Amino acid sequence: MKVFKFGGASLESIERIKNVAAIVQSFPEDKILIVISAMGKTTNELEKVAQHYFMRKREIAAQLLFNIEQQHIQLAEQLLGNKTNSVFTQLQEFFTEAEWTLGEKPVRPYDYYYDQIVGLGELLSTAIVSAYFNQIGLNNAWLDVRDIFLTDSTFRDANIDWEVTQRQVNEKVLPLFNTTNVIVAQGFIGSTDQNESVTLGREGSDFSAAVFANTLNAESQTIWKDVEGLKNADPKLFPNTVNIPEISFSEVIEMAYYGAQVIHPKTIKPLQNKQIPLYVKCFLDKNLPGTVIKEDTDAAQLPPLIILKRNQVLLTITSKDFGFITEDKIADIYDMLFRLKIKINLMQNAAISFSCCIDHNPEKIEQLMKTLHDQYKITYHEELELLTVRYNKNGLLEELIKGKTILLEQRALHTTQVLMKQPSEQTI
Ligand code: ASP
Ligand code: MG
Repeated sequence: MKVFKFGGASLESIERIKNVAAIVQSFPEDKILIVISAMGKTTNELEKVAQHYFMRKREIAAQLLFNIEQQHIQLAEQLLGNKTNSVFTQLQEFFTEAEWTLGEKPVRPYDYYYDQIVGLGELLSTAIVSAYFNQIGLNNAWLDVRDIFLTDSTFRDANIDWEVTQRQVNEKVLPLFNTTNVIVAQGFIGSTDQNESVTLGREGSDFSAAVFANTLNAESQTIWKDVEGLKNADPKLFPNTVNIPEISFSEVIEMAYYGAQVIHPKTIKPLQNKQIPLYVKCFLDKNLPGTVIKEDTDAAQLPPLIILKRNQVLLTITSKDFGFITEDKIADIYDMLFRLKIKINLMQNAAISFSCCIDHNPEKIEQLMKTLHDQYKITYHEELELLTVRYNKNGLLEELIKGKTILLEQRALHTTQVLMKQPSEQTI
């Protein structure tokens, strides 16, 4: 059994949806569970609906929702070539439910309403794709993943209850494969035990697919993207990137930690724990080799990996009374950072000061300064970028930092991190 994940870009037009069907049809021997995200930029549009609803701008919210409805219905009509397929009733039901939500007065926190509204994109996309597959003879079962993925109620970042989810997969998903080879399910969403919809965090469909791969003991997971596979750097930021044919789970986790936007970071653990390889393949040309992420690979074969995080801030926290910044003080500072959900990207301590590089977030920095201000003096530098290079070769790192103003640098055996001034035209 295989798990496939198709993201928004692979579903943004009729041609692309047909292409997804052709890819699935090219695996006639396999049982495949397909996880799908919302089409194109639907999630962003639904976020706007949620925001306007919560700001009590209900008319605008309703209008935005109506636009989304029209787009989906038109696309479904063109794709299916009729208006009578039962999927149109199903779509109507989803929209009616969303309209009910918009009709309620918001009395709960924003994140709750966000999840009730934004998860709609995946319900719509899967319903349309499943109906189209059936119409062309690619028989499949449509699954409402909210009946399978039980989570806690951390809205917008819900955590899977693995025990119950595993049980529901065994009881409700596995038996479906006795009557069909293909199951179509939503990424990104789940449900609490109160039947409230939740989302698993933006770009969470990769993770949803990994939850299925893990609980189904799949032989592999494939993420179908519009790029050739994983690259050694973001092609938007660096010329001359190369494809990585093979890379280990731990390396990908590290890359995500340093800020590479490769695969949703939560995706790796469920796969690594069951030793399920993750393929990243190109839906535009399925014959391209792509990348495989698995347990043991030879790091010596890797090209240098380059990760750049922009809009960084360097905070230097210095004790006012010239007291040493000892472990207990560092523990206090860490505790405050933890409570404010500020992640440290790089740190260094000295006798009476502690420096850390964090993402630029003015509100959080202000709160932190307020809390620390009695005991510490805080200085900070903005508009920095954090460059991480792993497996530096042939003077690449030296080339990248040539002529830059460097504020902090850390070198380990395979990893160098350099915090430097961001060229001014890149400032966002
Ligand atoms: N549709 C969701 C998003 O855009 C989930 C995903 O794409 O993985 O964030
Ligand atoms: Mg997406």
